[in-house]
Amino acid sequence: MAGPGRLIIISGPSGAGKSTVVRRLLERCPLPLELSVSVTTRPPRPGEVDGRDYHFVTAERFEQLRRAGEFLECKQVYGKHWYGTLRGQVERALASGKWIILEIDVQGAISVMEQMPEALSFFVHPESREELERRLRSRGTEDEESIQRRLAVADSELAFRNRYRFEIINRDVDEAADEICRILKQSTERTVSCSKN
Ligand code: 5GP
Repeated sequence: MAGPGRLIIISGPSGAGKSTVVRRLLERCPLPLELSVSVTTRPPRPGEVDGRDYHFVTAERFEQLRRAGEFLECKQVYGKHWYGTLRGQVERALASGKWIILEIDVQGAISVMEQMPEALSFFVHPESREELERRLRSRGTEDEESIQRRLAVADSELAFRNRYRFEIINRDVDEAADEICRILKQSTERTVSCSKN
């Protein structure tokens, strides 16, 4: 029988390499992990696939979903586009014993932590602000205005890092993914030994 599902939150500044770390975690970590696919009003970037990277919707559709109570949390990130976590996907995953990963911004993460305090939360960030800026620029997908907005938000997001249970410095993607995996596995061991006592 499947063990209990767990909720995992991964956030951190844009450009921290979160998505790459999460992808590597899904490849390397032998736990029943599933990635939550958020809904967004942001247009797809080249190479992004609807239903895999995000559910890409219009502002009208997003508002409909919000009013219908379909979101566990939703936020306007970088003051522009809306992003939301689908309650149904999270509930289904947890009910079937999956470890569901939410890769969401700090405001969304705090809202989920308040609703589900047992969540395992990780704040991923690069070694320095210079490194963050270098990564954002090398991605080549953002214009200057968007880069500046993301850097300003990154500064304010750093202030929230102590709200997370674990802080991961992403010096190397494989090491960061392995560290998260190790922490997740330890969390199961702790659950088992508690239930024995
Ligand atoms: P991007 O546009 O680069 O894909 O994502 C921008 C930011 O939105 C990232 O920090 C990402 O983690 C966050 N994000 C993605 N999906 C969600 C979501 O469902 N809810 C919230 N609150 N943030 C999200």
